[in-house]
Amino acid sequence: MSYDIAVVGGGPAGLSAAVQGLTRGKSVVVISSDLRDNALYKARRVDNYLGFPQAEGAQLLTRFREHAEAMGAAWISGRVLNIMPAGGRFYLGVGSDMEEAGAVVLATGVVQAARLPGEAEHLGRGVSYCATCDGMLYRNRPVVVVGKSAHAPEEAAYLQGLGCRVTYAAARRPEELPPDIPFVKAGRLEIVGEDQVCALRADGEEVPCDGVFILRPTMALTDLLPGLETEEGRIVVDRSMATSIPGVFAAGDCTGLPHQVSKAVGEGQVAGHRASEYVDRQTV
Ligand SMILES: Cc1cc2nc3c(=O)[nH]c(=O)nc-3n(C[C@H](O)[C@H](O)[C@H](O)COP(=O)(O)OP(=O)(O)OC[C@H]3O[C@@H](n4cnc5c(N)ncnc54)[C@H](O)[C@@H]3O)c2cc1C
Repeated sequence: MSYDIAVVGGGPAGLSAAVQGLTRGKSVVVISSDLRDNALYKARRVDNYLGFPQAEGAQLLTRFREHAEAMGAAWISGRVLNIMPAGGRFYLGVGSDMEEAGAVVLATGVVQAARLPGEAEHLGRGVSYCATCDGMLYRNRPVVVVGKSAHAPEEAAYLQGLGCRVTYAAARRPEELPPDIPFVKAGRLEIVGEDQVCALRADGEEVPCDGVFILRPTMALTDLLPGLETEEGRIVVDRSMATSIPGVFAAGDCTGLPHQVSKAVGEGQVAGHRASEYVDRQTV
């Protein structure tokens, strides 16, 4: 589908940007990973968001989302794997689908950029970030799912349904994991192999496999949008929340401290406003 503005991340910053874009008559899609991975969802009690004393984080987040959807925001549940600018438009890869937009607001929250040892070297050579994109390649073959997102157990079940021989590795066994999927409790993980992946090393023990699916709620910013200027893991923005790439704006925790709801909502408002103006300028 094609939209005026695509927002990456359905937290306070992204939803505020969406509401602002919709207020200015733009079509807006919010693409976000599982809400259980959202920072605000994890906040048991928020006391410093104006007008909502003693709010439960999950409830506040639900109200924000309902507000954006009631105004007409489209919602896609999924992880944006990459963003490609081409011909004045942006193409966002979401699983095996592609969405198109005239401007982008990045509202990813804090992105954990640390990769596993061996991950970068084996990307596309056994390491994958997307079960729906690459699962068929591993039919009847052993794979390990490194579960770092709330949605990962479902993805593991999906791979098993395709015929992959799945092992699940994580710090603790998630309740949602189907009982017939073997589980490996692991803190320290490493991808092993020469040219191709041949195993995952979990706390020193090797689990032989042909593929490793690393399922995080976020993507490293440099993988998400190559060329995006960052500084110590945060996206560099100016006062209009513009990034180093024309047409791409950013808001919220991903732009740096303080990591607070009010700051995220305020920056989201500016980013949504400026993204709308950008779209207007492109269509004149
Ligand atoms: C335990 C806890 C307590 C807190 N208490 C308070 C408090 O009392 N007061 C306060 O003001 N703040 C508090 N915070 C901080 C507050 O929750 C954050 O500052 C706020 O949620 C930031 O909003 P955001 O929209 O920038 O990011 P987030 O809320 O983190 O939302 C970002 C969303 O984008 C998704 N995402 C990331 N990358 C992708 C991708 N590539 N594709 C699709 N989706 C993606 C993420 O999964 C996430 O759902 C607390 C946080 C925590 C964890």
